[in-house]
Amino acid sequence: MIKIRSSFGLFLFSVLFLCSSLSLQAANRVQQTDETVVIVIDPGHGGENKGTIENGFLEKSMTMITAQAMYDELCLYDNVEVYLTRTEDVDMELDARAAYAASVNADFLFSIHYNASVKHDLFGSEVWISAMPPYNAYGYQFGYQQLLTMRDMGLYLRGVKTKWNDKKDADYYGIIRESAALSIPAVIIEHCHVDEERDYPFCDTEEELIAFGKADALSVAKYFGLKSTALGVDYSEESSLPEAEANHTVQASLQDETPPDVCIIDIAETDEDTGTVTLEVTAADYDSPLIYYDYSYDGGTTYSPLQMWPDSDVLTGTYKDNFKLMIQIPSGTQPEIIFRAYNMFDAFTESNKLTLLHVFRYGEEDAVSDETALSAQPTEELAQTEEKKLPGTTTFMPAVSDEVAEDGEVSFLSFLKLCLLIVIVLFILLLVSRMFACYRRKKRRRQRRK
Ligand SMILES: [Zn+2]
Repeated sequence: MIKIRSSFGLFLFSVLFLCSSLSLQAANRVQQTDETVVIVIDPGHGGENKGTIENGFLEKSMTMITAQAMYDELCLYDNVEVYLTRTEDVDMELDARAAYAASVNADFLFSIHYNASVKHDLFGSEVWISAMPPYNAYGYQFGYQQLLTMRDMGLYLRGVKTKWNDKKDADYYGIIRESAALSIPAVIIEHCHVDEERDYPFCDTEEELIAFGKADALSVAKYFGLKSTALGVDYSEESSLPEAEANHTVQASLQDETPPDVCIIDIAETDEDTGTVTLEVTAADYDSPLIYYDYSYDGGTTYSPLQMWPDSDVLTGTYKDNFKLMIQIPSGTQPEIIFRAYNMFDAFTESNKLTLLHVFRYGEEDAVSDETALSAQPTEELAQTEEKKLPGTTTFMPAVSDEVAEDGEVSFLSFLKLCLLIVIVLFILLLVSRMFACYRRKKRRRQRRK
């Protein structure tokens, strides 16, 4: 019996092992290439086209340093031909870059960029790919590998994405569109945001820009399954690429044109001694994962910096759709809380507004200047709006004792109630004594008649 069981176990183990190794191999490389792989690296911008200029960063120079490092690293691999679209600080049209790639029979064009956002609030790494088959599948497999590399470096991930032009018949980004027109797959690598403090440390020195170039080369090597005798590495058996099919657009990469579908907040707990409010957040987007949130406690006048969404993973498309969030309310603030959920395409949905009906007061000395505060409304204004209930908002009414009002004073209403009670008692006593006197008089009369 034991023998049968153990041999059955061995059989089961063999089947499972075979299945798992098959599934590892099943992560197919969609793009097929000749033995020699032709790689074109495109340092974004150049000449008069400076790219992003923020905080002393100059994108056209940054992309050149990264592209050169990527070039140097890729040249260490066997069976590759590597080219740069430009090596000088010159203007170059996007179609000229694609034409150059075509002229050398490129298998792939990698366009190197650094990002900045209009409100200087976004952070993280992303890859833009073609929406057109088969370039979409190629781009998706490379982009996925690239984001794995970026995650290993410690960057936040913003996804592998597509964007249509206005007519929705071609890709929005020129280098991707022009390359696809010449049958060359192309992607835009946006390494990080130069205008956000969480991304600065990744790009503020030349060493960092070189590190990005080497990381990009690693992603390319893993994507094509390259081997390097010089480096002593072999990625030909590498199998971390996601599933994709040449003639289908990967659903997860499709542009999401709608904001998140659900965004609701509720009060889970308030602690007025410490000024903390714990929110219960419920949010969802049925098309793309949620990646950031922010919140306001002054009714939307100011917002917190964007925060990473809990358990957000753009590679698996998963994120937490329900969680608790503790926020600090500065003393002297009447909280009016709004929360916003952002999807992978930076579209957001605003939650219901939670208005707490009185001003938070605690640790008065600390409350005067709180540097981390979002900026609270002046207390005088708050006092006037304290009793105002805003239409269409969820209201949280804190429990306040009937007898003792805020600030420990005996309320006028309680005093009136007490007076009324005394008057009623006196009145009843008077009535009873009158009735008693009346009864005694009647009794005396009856006794006299007898
Ligand atoms: Zn750029």
